[in-house]
Amino acid sequence: MSDTISKPQVIIVGGGPVGLGLAIELGQRRVACTVVERNTTVSPIPKGQNLTQRTMEHFHFWGAEKQLREARTFPPDFGMGGLTAYGELFGPYSYTWMPRELVAPYYFTENERLPQYATEEVLRARAAELSNVEVLYGWKAETVGEDQTGAFAEIAPVAGGAIRTLSAPYLVGCDGAWSTVRQAARLTQTLTEHDKVMVLLVFRSETLHRMLTERYPGKCFFSVIHPDYEGYWQFFGRVDPDANFFFHAPVPAGTTRDNFDFTALLRRAAGADFDVEIQHVGFWNLRFALADSYGQGRLFIAGDAAHSHPPYGGYGVNTGFEDAKNLGWKLAATIQGWGGARLLDSYSQERQPVFRGTIDSFIEWSILRDRDFLKSFNPDRDLDAFERKWQERSSGAEAEVGAFEPNYQGSPLVWGPPGNGPGAVGAHALKARAGHHLSPRPLSSGRNVYDELGPLHLAGARRRPRRLRRRRA
Ligand SMILES: Cc1cc2nc3c(=O)[nH]c(=O)nc-3n(C[C@H](O)[C@H](O)[C@H](O)COP(=O)(O)OP(=O)(O)OC[C@H]3O[C@@H](n4cnc5c(N)ncnc54)[C@H](O)[C@@H]3O)c2cc1C
Repeated sequence: MSDTISKPQVIIVGGGPVGLGLAIELGQRRVACTVVERNTTVSPIPKGQNLTQRTMEHFHFWGAEKQLREARTFPPDFGMGGLTAYGELFGPYSYTWMPRELVAPYYFTENERLPQYATEEVLRARAAELSNVEVLYGWKAETVGEDQTGAFAEIAPVAGGAIRTLSAPYLVGCDGAWSTVRQAARLTQTLTEHDKVMVLLVFRSETLHRMLTERYPGKCFFSVIHPDYEGYWQFFGRVDPDANFFFHAPVPAGTTRDNFDFTALLRRAAGADFDVEIQHVGFWNLRFALADSYGQGRLFIAGDAAHSHPPYGGYGVNTGFEDAKNLGWKLAATIQGWGGARLLDSYSQERQPVFRGTIDSFIEWSILRDRDFLKSFNPDRDLDAFERKWQERSSGAEAEVGAFEPNYQGSPLVWGPPGNGPGAVGAHALKARAGHHLSPRPLSSGRNVYDELGPLHLAGARRRPRRLRRRRA
């Protein structure tokens, strides 16, 4: 643990990936923060594997890119591509899915793939290097709240012991889908129930590993769509090159660990027989929950606390890191006195519509699109029509990667042509556009514009006040 901070400027409840990312962002901006995390060790469930190029830009500036790449479970030449298959994983119809390499020229760093527990270990180690970041592992926030002067959290050791009260000007809940902070701040959510129970299996199979290596070299994650599942995916993900996998799919309501044949489910989804050694069985409900606002007064939420959804497309942790980045500089600016009175309001105004768009135009959209396709096209009914549509979907998979371009055009902070407001849909471009991601172009000096942003943008934090004062948020 870092040095004890007697008076943090920000309390962060939840030291999962998003809470730790926010702590690093704040710590590097010289904001003292205390993270309260109930777990002493990271969860061994290999979720949150696909990290986008944008997320890796954050790790670069958090001083943790090299460590993250070293922590990857696959050798660099293994490949980390995705694939969509029809009917069965080893059936006749499949195409490349989520070809993130198509947008690589627009980002400064390459994407990455590793289990979330490995990512969290890297973040824990980086946070421990920052003297103004204190992480209290094994402590749970029991109660949080605010008054006119600040925010507070009553925290208790999970192992038992006396309650301690932390206070700070601001408090952020990065405490996951069932967020205590969201409830304490009375931040309402818009829920879309899909009424589906999903199983999450972690398993080992040498045979499946061999079959996938032969049939689909370079691919790491596989969604199988089947008419019986109405657009909900059967999803296989490689965890490492040593034959470890995870899988999720809908199961009938009332399914338990003991009353269902999960091996048969896996074999049916693959359309092949293989050895299966199941290591973990978990369940979750497929639904969308989006907070209507990401903050109230001195309390904010980020990551799954603000938006929870099925992991289709790998938007969860990547979006959470982007929340941390957006909120982090705004908290620092406000605390350090160079942010305007309404700057913190812009966090929710920018980030909430981006996730609304991510649900509507990507995650839920993909379920509905697959459902329509599966109803309308079937190779047993009309092979020609099915194959034509399958080919069209295959090209569409490329367009989907390109169209996911969260941007803040039209946000209260952004100069430039009036837009419809922040959203998730856009287009990648190699030119500077107000409110959009900056592409990594070479400057006349020969250096990349990202190199000129400086280490950890601390210099930028000192230079920015004059420009911002002209247009206060
Ligand atoms: C099977 C699966 C696959 C996935 N794949 C991807 C993917 O490829 N790409 C992607 O981007 N996302 C993926 N996700 C989603 C991703 O895992 C989540 O979005 C991510 O974990 C969110 O991080 P978080 O820090 O917001 O919340 P969490 O990971 O839930 O962390 C919250 C933390 O808060 C702590 N906490 C909660 N309450 C308290 C309290 N009162 N006091 C103290 N501590 C508390 C918890 O212990 C936890 O450590 C996947 C999810 C699943 C289930």
